[in-house]
Amino acid sequence: MRTYIFGPVPSRRLGISLGVDLTPTKTCSFDCLYCQLSKTRFHTSTRSQFCDPECVITELKAVLSEIARPDWITISGTGEPTLHTGLGFILAEIKKLDSAPSCVITNSSLMHLPEVRQELMLADRLLPTVTTVNQRSFERIHRPTADLRLASILEGIQLFSRDFKGSIEIEVFVCPGINDSAEEIAGLRDYLRSLPNLESVYLNTAVRMPVESEISTADQGLLNNFRTALNLSVPVTTAFEHSFVPPRSSNWNRPALSSDVLKLLLRHPCSEKQLEQVLSSAPDKITALLLELAGQGKVRQTSNGDWTLTD
Ligand code: SF4
Repeated sequence: MRTYIFGPVPSRRLGISLGVDLTPTKTCSFDCLYCQLSKTRFHTSTRSQFCDPECVITELKAVLSEIARPDWITISGTGEPTLHTGLGFILAEIKKLDSAPSCVITNSSLMHLPEVRQELMLADRLLPTVTTVNQRSFERIHRPTADLRLASILEGIQLFSRDFKGSIEIEVFVCPGINDSAEEIAGLRDYLRSLPNLESVYLNTAVRMPVESEISTADQGLLNNFRTALNLSVPVTTAFEHSFVPPRSSNWNRPALSSDVLKLLLRHPCSEKQLEQVLSSAPDKITALLLELAGQGKVRQTSNGDWTLTD
């Protein structure tokens, strides 16, 4: 029975990624308009040891012994991973395992804290989100806890990127009508140009149906215009230019169970094809599991055909 480790999953940016989830479901310092998960249940910016880091590493070692080597061990999941005070220990242990490089996907909200920056230095790759340089837009898009100040966060990312030896790829979530004005993009451009060692920028949008209806999807044309206006010297890719990577070999040594499907959908809405790939299962097996779970009212299909958990 897995508690902290999920996947491996084929990721648009990371290839085959083995996930590590350090927080209870939807424990986050933000409650983003575009979140694909449920509304934030535990809205906090206070760091805590949500689970025993030793147990995380024990489970990680067990899973790594069962699967083909992943491209990345990715700390992400159903909440904000930098809220866990054991993050530095876990990253140090992953390095000792020498199984795969580590990556942290963060909403950046705690980058103003020196201890968080110090812990993140142990990662091989960081994917932080920076969606705007405007406090009002920041509050509108991310609905952060009341104590979070964007200026301090942006400064923290600058300090971090000056010393970090790994790679940094900033994710900008494009929210049409909120952060795509000429003024917004110019502010973001100046900030991104100020970051030392920035490797690339990823323009994301609500490709899948978010929980909130206030947000709309940016189409490829809008993302292209956004990229042109950013006018950066580093590569800028968009959500529509990445395709899911099929697993290289079977990731599982047993038939998929309905609990495997539920665990994947908890973290990420998926198409039937993606579930087949991730769980190395025949299409009819996945269809049968989804119909069984839909019959139990546990999953539902969204308007774009993806499957997600029923709220
Ligand atoms: S998108 Fe990420 S940062 Fe935003 S509320 Fe959801 S889990 Fe938190």
